[in-house]
Amino acid sequence: MFQILNKQLANLDKKVGDFYKLSGRYFGSLINIYGRQIYKKELTNLLKESDNIKTESKFDELVLRNIQSNLNLNDMVIDYFTNPNFSLPVKDFFNKLSGEGTFEYLEEMVKSPPWNKRWQQLEKRQEKDYARINPFTEEAQKSAREWLPKIKKDILDFGKSEGYLPWDFDMSILLIPPKDGTEWSNWNPKTKVFNLGSYGFEFFPENGRVIAIPTEAYRVAFHEVLGHGAHQIHSEKMPYSLRFTEEVGSITPTKSITEGVAINAEKRCYNFLRQKLKELGLSEEKIVLLEEGNDLEQQSKMEQMYYALIKDKEVKEKDFNSYEHIIRLTQNPIVAKIFKDDFKGSFIDVWRTIGHTLGPIHYQRMLNKVKQEAGKEYLCSKEFHKTTLNGVWSWEVYPDAVSYMIREKA
Ligand SMILES: [Zn+2]
Repeated sequence: MFQILNKQLANLDKKVGDFYKLSGRYFGSLINIYGRQIYKKELTNLLKESDNIKTESKFDELVLRNIQSNLNLNDMVIDYFTNPNFSLPVKDFFNKLSGEGTFEYLEEMVKSPPWNKRWQQLEKRQEKDYARINPFTEEAQKSAREWLPKIKKDILDFGKSEGYLPWDFDMSILLIPPKDGTEWSNWNPKTKVFNLGSYGFEFFPENGRVIAIPTEAYRVAFHEVLGHGAHQIHSEKMPYSLRFTEEVGSITPTKSITEGVAINAEKRCYNFLRQKLKELGLSEEKIVLLEEGNDLEQQSKMEQMYYALIKDKEVKEKDFNSYEHIIRLTQNPIVAKIFKDDFKGSFIDVWRTIGHTLGPIHYQRMLNKVKQEAGKEYLCSKEFHKTTLNGVWSWEVYPDAVSYMIREKA
């Protein structure tokens, strides 16, 4: 496995892992100015310590770079939220936080959204939504529960054969009723329980009974178990600051990697389902609807993040009129009106979705690098899937880290 050689770095690694917990707690009470002093003092000490370390291997170098990237970028976000004299303009802040050109990328999304696709999706959903049965009904719950053993078996078989899960891996799968779980499914890494929300199913009447269509349930299972669950298991033996704990996932620069990994796993479910249309009672049309629906949701998240940044820009930068900017950019008075009257967010509100929003962009940067170095074929290999799951890295270091780990194993 990958281990730190330098003793000082091994020491720092442990301290940083603990600092993520403190940082997480402070993030929960940013209003507290005293908490900020505690956090800042600890942060300054760690950064100073990291400056004096002489790395002894390429892996040491990556770990050190990762620690510094996480500490610096995470601190910049906190500073953006809490420091009234924060000096960077909004665009520069965001590009530094997420990579050069990301602000412009989001701007392009807002400038020309896929109206055609959105319209088609709306039309296709009309009839279907009308026929739906309420998930609260007993019949609906019963038909959803009947799916659980099948979903579990499919996920374990696929996950093991494709290198996502160890051969002896097991888990439990439970159904959350709609009244408790709304639509949120989740994975508990400690107990290895996958809680599947009832909204993972769509319910329709058929021949006097209720049938449950599990397309969304499979998508969520791929995301939670083959994404987050697998990432966590494969990171267990990595250095402390790279393990998948609750805290490390809430450090801003790693959020887009944990979600990028999970969203990538989730994308594999479309082809998986296509190969089982008959077995699962699905149609190609349903898969297309699922895939397009998710792409559109991804698009919306990016738009929301851009709007939030533009609202901030108006507050922070004199003479900037956000309404005029949006109308000029979109040439769409309705979009501009909704933005002006109804959109209340600022970056701090969309911050929690930053992993989901930027995950695919940052994951793609790793794919591009590996594709260039190892070829397109390699991206389909079991070895590659496994390697992408080793450690929770900052997006700044992840492409180099994966590339290094591939070379080391070869
Ligand atoms: Zn996730």
